[in-house]
Amino acid sequence: GRMKRVTKAETTCQYCAVGCRFELYGKDGEVLGVRPTDPEATPANDFSTCVKGKFGYEFVNSPNRLETPLIKEDGEFREASWDEALDLVVDRLSEIQDEHGDDSVAVTSSSKATNEENFLNQKFARQVLNTPHVDNCARLCHSSTVAGLKQTLGFGAMSNRINEDIGETDCYLITGSNTTESHPVLATRIKQNVDEGADLFVFEPRKIGLAEHATQYTRTKPGEDIAWLNGMVRHIIEEDLHDESFIEERTKGFEELKEKVEPFTPQKVEELAGVSEEDLTNAAETIAKADSCIFGWAMGMTQHAHGTRNVLAITNLALVTGNLGKPRAGVSPFRGQNNVQGGGGDMGPAPHNLPGYQDPTDEDVLEKFESEWGVRPPDRVGLRLPEQYEAMDDGNIRGMYIMGENPVLSEPDIRDAEHAIEKLDFLVVQDIFLTETAQFADVVLPAASAAEKYGTFTNTERRIQMVRPAVSSPGEARTDMDILTDVAGRFGYEWEYDGPADVMDEISRLVPIYGGVNYDRLESTPEGLQWPVWDDDHSGTPYLYDEEFNFDDGLARFVPADYAGPVEMPDEQYPLMLTSGRVLYHWHTGTMTRRVEALMHHVPESFVTIHHKMAEDLGVEDGEYVRVESRRGDIVVKANVEDTADPGVVFIPMHFAQGAINELTQHELDPTSYIPEYKVTSVRIAPL
Ligand code: SF4
Repeated sequence: GRMKRVTKAETTCQYCAVGCRFELYGKDGEVLGVRPTDPEATPANDFSTCVKGKFGYEFVNSPNRLETPLIKEDGEFREASWDEALDLVVDRLSEIQDEHGDDSVAVTSSSKATNEENFLNQKFARQVLNTPHVDNCARLCHSSTVAGLKQTLGFGAMSNRINEDIGETDCYLITGSNTTESHPVLATRIKQNVDEGADLFVFEPRKIGLAEHATQYTRTKPGEDIAWLNGMVRHIIEEDLHDESFIEERTKGFEELKEKVEPFTPQKVEELAGVSEEDLTNAAETIAKADSCIFGWAMGMTQHAHGTRNVLAITNLALVTGNLGKPRAGVSPFRGQNNVQGGGGDMGPAPHNLPGYQDPTDEDVLEKFESEWGVRPPDRVGLRLPEQYEAMDDGNIRGMYIMGENPVLSEPDIRDAEHAIEKLDFLVVQDIFLTETAQFADVVLPAASAAEKYGTFTNTERRIQMVRPAVSSPGEARTDMDILTDVAGRFGYEWEYDGPADVMDEISRLVPIYGGVNYDRLESTPEGLQWPVWDDDHSGTPYLYDEEFNFDDGLARFVPADYAGPVEMPDEQYPLMLTSGRVLYHWHTGTMTRRVEALMHHVPESFVTIHHKMAEDLGVEDGEYVRVESRRGDIVVKANVEDTADPGVVFIPMHFAQGAINELTQHELDPTSYIPEYKVTSVRIAPL
């Protein structure tokens, strides 16, 4: 039953990856609210939380929380006991594997869950099911960041800290991030520092909130970032403003880069990206001359069929200006979900990485895992999430176990994803609500929210922080850890953990960058630990690459970014460019925020933002419904007439099931990271 007294937990926000900390209060099993905690213990938010952190916890108390396992019979769900539901899961997955081979099942992990649960999720896939097909939503948000940064710098993560570096730098280049709405507390940090004199350059198709505070806001054409980034590098080299000693001592490949950026003259950049020579050279020169600069980005850079090349291009700019391996500088991918850095990345629920980004084809790595688990993990790279949906469509993947994700809203071209899911012989969904995806499941397992469990999250600055329960779970809901442990046991694998602390001990034995992480240290270090934490005596790594980059020779690599633009360009049939993003009051596919009245009050439904000229042409007024169509599908949404972008560019947020933008998007993939081209879609709009 639920706890019957006021309880207080010092914990970490379960929305975005800024990782704000606060005290979460509960009474009679319900979350009451949050209160800022001791500034010492809150490295990311020593002054506040955003509206989601403050008012966004009502979903925990929702009467719609799942309270018992559900089994679908004749198309209807009925309540079931845990025994019945889990036995069915084990029977059906076993049958499918017996008939079609171990690789016919796949597992999806969740960046909302803790590190420990994500570790166990991939262990369940690899040890228990012997399938390499495990992946998570990081594939769809920053896989191109990880791929780009690993190639150039060695680690696929933010190189610097939030407060001491982002909060104190001399200069920013922010692109492809609507920071004010997606990472509010981080944006406040940036605005404060800009008020104190730092330069801020915002390159973005839409005039977002942060642009109001910028030294220079430059409107770019969607999907043309390689052009202006290469153009900046070219200009800096031409003006002799590059950091020669840094390049000489700490990098390799500069000559090739220099050659490859040569075609990106200011004229060429203007033609491709719509960036004027004045804006380009002013930003390039200010960035190159600044003592320190932070390069910040999010999905506007990553979600393209050339996402990895975008990341290479911005990293080259950071390297030529010597902005790595020192305080107040660095490359800052702003990660989205609360625990996508740790749970989605570090813990290795990914087909090409074992935990800690270790190679599943490396014999030494395999032996290490085998000696810990008693079973050799599959020694090959599995299918990435979008490939898994193709395999489902082809009948090669027939069973799927989804923990805490909502792919029928988050996959590109969701009609196709739905179709693939419908073809499955068996689908298990483990979640806190009966999500759009759970509706398709054969078995639904009720999970605990992060307000109801212990564990750790790793925020966007690689900081591992404690998560603690303020309330107990509703009904029979159980933590992901307990459910996975139970299922593994029914498959004959006894996991003997006393709690998440034991799982972290196993992680520290297997994952070198978490080598010195344990609960004793985390409990006595309220500000958390930033990886790599190599061993028990190592205090962690506030900023990366102080002495060397993460390669044997210690040198960063310049990897030139060859030009690529959007996959689909506007034409007569579909003359508008649609781009996507977030709004302050919602989060991802909205499974939590759409259940919070205080947030729904502000933005209750999906919309399309169109320029007033376009609205006039269409004869549409603000607030009227319109039909938005692409080659994949069509949706009806409210028109929001606002001149934030060029007349030919329209915007739809990603949070809604009604008017879901992914009815329109396409599944063209980045060849390196397999991230889909979410950000640019050709559409047309018609009044109803
Ligand atoms: Fe939570 Fe992010 Fe808001 Fe901080 S900025 S309170 S981590 S949603």
